[in-house]
Amino acid sequence: MNLPPLDDGTPAQAVVDLDAISDNLRALRGHAPSSDVMAVVKADGYGHGMLPAARAALAGGATWLGVATAAEALALRAGLSGADVRVLVWLLTPGAPFADLVRADVDVTVAAPWALDEVAAGARAAGRAARVHLKVDTGLSRGGVAAGDLPEVARRAAALEASGELSVVGVFSHLACADEPGHPSIARQATAFDAALAVTGDAGLRPEVRHLANSAATLTLPELHYDLVRPGIAVYGFAPSPALGVPGDHGLRPAMTFRSRLANVKQVAAGEGVSYGHLYTTSQDTTVGLVPVGYGDGVPRHASGGSAGPGGPVAVGQGPGARVLRVAGRVCMDQLVLDLGPDAAERAGDVVTLFGSSDGVAHGADVPNAQDWADAAGTISYEIVTRLGARVPRVYVSEGDVHQ
Ligand SMILES: *Cc1c(COP(=O)(O)O)cnc(C)c1O
Repeated sequence: MNLPPLDDGTPAQAVVDLDAISDNLRALRGHAPSSDVMAVVKADGYGHGMLPAARAALAGGATWLGVATAAEALALRAGLSGADVRVLVWLLTPGAPFADLVRADVDVTVAAPWALDEVAAGARAAGRAARVHLKVDTGLSRGGVAAGDLPEVARRAAALEASGELSVVGVFSHLACADEPGHPSIARQATAFDAALAVTGDAGLRPEVRHLANSAATLTLPELHYDLVRPGIAVYGFAPSPALGVPGDHGLRPAMTFRSRLANVKQVAAGEGVSYGHLYTTSQDTTVGLVPVGYGDGVPRHASGGSAGPGGPVAVGQGPGARVLRVAGRVCMDQLVLDLGPDAAERAGDVVTLFGSSDGVAHGADVPNAQDWADAAGTISYEIVTRLGARVPRVYVSEGDVHQ
């Protein structure tokens, strides 16, 4: 991708390469050639923007979209009006707008016994049958119908199917440790899922799609693909965990580049404390550079640098002479500081890249990525991109065109 120039006066932006999302989707289809692919676009498309991410995933061949909340599902349907795509929502609470979801042609999840009555009431209010996926707990112990409740839930679902209120079109579950190769829970969950499918089958349910695989299972566990896979993080170009290698190993590339520019460059004497709490002390007369992004923009405060450990990495400059430095001192709400060293040639206004595409930056392999930030902050790449703040404008690039 050719990154568009960062306009003068723009303190920070996230450039989202929509072609990367489409290409990642194609790669995922290649990993699961016998299954349909649901692109998971919850949490504002993992921070990339739900609707642009959804459209790019559809262009890459996704036939399903998955979201967590009812509000996300309704916004998706409103934004994609007319699109030929199935939408599934899975995290609902009592009182959820089931009638609106059914009217909007959203597939709804029954993940607890209470939901059956509410779905049926919503379907009656909407005047049409609800399309339901039963979510079963196979060992994550989070959402989903408990194994002990499943026979009764399946029996009631079959009765509501017979009376025309709903149609059970899916049975699914979610994996706890698919990103840890060889974890014993994976095989246990697969066995429990097959047992759950037997229970729903015995109740007379004939789902169109059975689905279990998240990104990690889509990439590495073909025996768990069933009829539909549900990748999220891989759609945005990340390997789910360092144990599963780097994106390129799977034909993926990160879609987001987060960049800013130096707001101030100035001299600081040796022995001075830098930023709140003085976690970092200059070891020599030096130059510091101020980057106008902080935890208010989603830069994790845990990636502060100094006595607490190495800070998050930032590529300073573009072209020959670009280099990667670590955050000096605390990440503040709106800003962070870099120690540019005594001989710094940087100037206020120079572009810095916190993570993303190496385009335009020399030594491309060294440009930090969201996994590097996750390592510095003690978290996962998912959280780095998803928490990027609303204050950071997203700019979309596809086929050379830039859209704000
Ligand atoms: C978030 C989520 C996914 C996607 O998980 P990734 O690890 O991002 O691939 C799939 N299914 C369910 C139920 C989820 O909540």
